[in-house]
Amino acid sequence: MIGFLLRRLAPLLAVLLLALPAAAQELTALARLNAGASGVEDRAGGINVTLALSQPVPFRVFLLQDPARLVVDFREVSFQGADPLALDRSAHVTELRWGVFRPGWSRLVAELDGPFLVSSAWQETDPASVRIRLEPTDAAGLAAVAADPGRAVEGTIWDLPDPVVTATPKRRQTGEAPLVVALDPGHGGLDPGAEAAGLTEAHLMLAFARELQEVLRRGGMQVELTRTEDVFVPLETRISVARAAGADLFLSLHADALAEGEAVGATIYTLSEDASDTASRLLAERHDRADLLAGIDLDGHDDEVAGVLMDLARTETQPRADRLARALADGITAAGLKTHRRPVQAADFSVLKSPDIPSVLLEVGFMSSATDRARLMDEGWRAQMQAALLAGIRAWAEADAAEARLIRQ
Ligand SMILES: [Zn+2]
Repeated sequence: MIGFLLRRLAPLLAVLLLALPAAAQELTALARLNAGASGVEDRAGGINVTLALSQPVPFRVFLLQDPARLVVDFREVSFQGADPLALDRSAHVTELRWGVFRPGWSRLVAELDGPFLVSSAWQETDPASVRIRLEPTDAAGLAAVAADPGRAVEGTIWDLPDPVVTATPKRRQTGEAPLVVALDPGHGGLDPGAEAAGLTEAHLMLAFARELQEVLRRGGMQVELTRTEDVFVPLETRISVARAAGADLFLSLHADALAEGEAVGATIYTLSEDASDTASRLLAERHDRADLLAGIDLDGHDDEVAGVLMDLARTETQPRADRLARALADGITAAGLKTHRRPVQAADFSVLKSPDIPSVLLEVGFMSSATDRARLMDEGWRAQMQAALLAGIRAWAEADAAEARLIRQ
């Protein structure tokens, strides 16, 4: 709800901030817009937006409706000396405006004369330019995107997460309401994850997540998936989806290939700056790299989830995540299923960085192992694993709720 309100308010804020003295913009700006090489133009029925910059910057693109608008956020871009009227050569863009959105962030807003969808958005680095392609759509096209959470994420937010973070920590679950579980099928879209024997990790984990979703729902839990089709979802967005769902726990599902060390059997990872071993460290680095290749800056996001409240939440969340990992490992072992010889490990996975949601990453198996691949393809084995995960989550949730009630008293 807060996010929704902020989103509605955002254009208003952008307009207000345009009134800031030009000098303030000059002081904080790093990259500059090269107006001569930029333009907003009608091409082949759609709109091409080209924004030439003095250097590449993190950016994100999304659409707002009522009225239809394209919004582009940049980290630190100066628009000084550029004239929106000169740049706007599109008959479909009724107004173009830009300015500092909030400290460290600049925003460009283009008002559109009808509904459009972002068909592509990327950044070229040499020379730097942000390029966005908009295709016309109709009310049905917009509704289709809005109705599907997976597509809504893909269709509206292309890059960085919302820079406006004012959330307060989530209240701990006390067992009085159904447990809300965020399942995060790893990879997707342009990032297939591990590949072996004609299979991709992205595809296997989406199928596994759908099955697990059913099992957990039948077990009385509410389940939210961070993606429901084969699309690329930035790591930060996965966290945002969990937060928006009010998740009590976050379970990222993977089946990676590991060249280093022994890699057979289920393994559960918790977050730690110090990885258990080299293999774990490389595994975490590889997962962050997919986001970096998509133009996402993973550094410095912590300062946006700032505040003492969140720091306190983080301190309380980590032991809860550690206990969740242990409970899942116990559940898997109790079901007689094979785990890695060290079933609980740690590494610096960005997707596990929710300050207030206990988050763990499960390697259901490793695609580099023929044994694990055979298990992953075996429906009966998957059903056993999913039942074991339900049992593990239940055991954790009961103990966790009991502790929360104790703390509250
Ligand atoms: Zn993976």
